[in-house]
Amino acid sequence: MAIDTIAVLGAGIMGRGIAYAALLGGYRTVLQDPSDAALEKGVAEIWATFEKGVVTGKVAGDVAAAANRRLQTVRDLDDAVGEADLVIEAAPESIQLKVELFAKLDERCPKHAILASNTSSLSITEMAAVTTRAPQVVGMHFFNPVHRMKLLEVVRALETSTATLTAACEVGTRMGKECVVVRESPGFVTSRINAMIGNEAFYMLQEGVASAADIDKALKLGLNHPMGPFELVDLVGLDTRLSILKFLHRTLGDKFRPCPLMEQYVAAGRLGRKSGRGVYEYPAS
Ligand code: NAD
Repeated sequence: MAIDTIAVLGAGIMGRGIAYAALLGGYRTVLQDPSDAALEKGVAEIWATFEKGVVTGKVAGDVAAAANRRLQTVRDLDDAVGEADLVIEAAPESIQLKVELFAKLDERCPKHAILASNTSSLSITEMAAVTTRAPQVVGMHFFNPVHRMKLLEVVRALETSTATLTAACEVGTRMGKECVVVRESPGFVTSRINAMIGNEAFYMLQEGVASAADIDKALKLGLNHPMGPFELVDLVGLDTRLSILKFLHRTLGDKFRPCPLMEQYVAAGRLGRKSGRGVYEYPAS
């Protein structure tokens, strides 16, 4: 089935990155978010990324200009998905919210449309169960920042068809990503390992084993991680990471019990780069 139009739901950290990748892949792209501020910021970041790409020679000028003509932004779900061949949901990490959205999508999208979620950990099968098209529901887990990260984890839920998996991988490839297909399991491959490392780092900080900067330095220089766990959680968002950990704790057991210090940071509004303060401080420039 040919995919021409992609609707991306949520214009936050991930949605705007996915919309950028969709535009770069040549798709007509509709970016939807109930918040005007998120849409404005999202669009500004998409064009800043294109401009940087043109300046550094990674994106041709005519490709960026054509992308500009293919982007539409909307606030209402109804205006976003009526002509979509593929919907990629990147709303906040809450199963209630995602299940409600998938039920609405099933009513509003064309019958042939594939429904994908960018969830980092939640059950795609649970989202598929509220639709009448479970074989056309799949996980498409992108990484942050989307324009730089090469991987796309394609998640096969209980009833996802092979045709849907193939279509998701083809879209990922056109967006310039390398795909791995994983069977649905809490946290898939990447979030499960990442949450474990990030949580352990918080326990070490809580116990006073070392400073945040030194824990980051140790993992970068001693284990060759490109970023330290605290630099990474500030990028991901501490609230998003905490939601993932709570889900992994519920589904996979005690080894994923969220560190109390992380819960305190979230309660204090220290959510990472997006709120100006997480483990580190990000003064507005
Ligand atoms: P975010 O908080 O930056 O953005 C979420 C956006 O969704 C906000 O702009 C919000 O206004 C919008 N929104 C709220 N309700 C909505 C609705 N009903 N319909 C459409 N949009 C709605 O969150 P994020 O970090 O972009 O995460 C989005 C999803 O991507 C989550 O499922 C998360 O687990 C996943 N994810 C996040 C990362 C990461 O590093 N942040 C990486 C991979 C996957």
